[in-house]
Amino acid sequence: MQPAHLPDATFFDALPQPTAQQPMPVLFSACLAGTLCGFDGTDNGSYPVAQSLLKLPQIKPVLFCPEHFSFGTPRELCDIHGGTGMDVLDGKARVLTEAGNDWTEGMIRGAEQMLKVAIENKVQLAILLDISAACGSQVISNGQRTAENRSYRIGAGVAAAMLIRHGIKVISQRDFKSLQLFHHKIDPYFKVAKESIDHHQTDWYRSYFSEKI
Ligand code: SF4
Repeated sequence: MQPAHLPDATFFDALPQPTAQQPMPVLFSACLAGTLCGFDGTDNGSYPVAQSLLKLPQIKPVLFCPEHFSFGTPRELCDIHGGTGMDVLDGKARVLTEAGNDWTEGMIRGAEQMLKVAIENKVQLAILLDISAACGSQVISNGQRTAENRSYRIGAGVAAAMLIRHGIKVISQRDFKSLQLFHHKIDPYFKVAKESIDHHQTDWYRSYFSEKI
């Protein structure tokens, strides 16, 4: 079943058709657009399907990094402990850094600012980097990640959860089907690859979360 935070055909049909003169505002994780705002001062890598949308004249990219907003760059690596971003917003889970610093409050402030930027720019759709404790939408780390030990859970990071709660649809850089459907909405000549799937439909996701889906 498609997660509710992903846009469906009804959502795409209801979007106004953007033009180069009246482009659609789309919120992007700033790192996806090449901003060096990853915790280690990098851009978190290359994701061509998501990044191709940044070049379309019918899209007005709105860039924001909630972790940089609160903690600057470079910064410690942080993860959600005891739940998802939704649980953090509800006061039921915390965000801790590798050194054990509690970043919960700053992560919520970053999420609130991201929502403010989205509302100011009339954003209806965000394209965010999955797995991040702030921007993840399909999957996040389950507690602190280390080089030797990392586990995952289904759910959104804190900033993505804030957007989703306020009705903004979120696509991750690994949701290839949704990204291509959106590209087709923007440019009807763009063809969606038949075999394209979203992250929750991958073999890895189905196998890893087999007891949870
Ligand atoms: S918080 Fe979001 S925008 Fe910032 S580096 Fe992490 S994934 Fe990118």
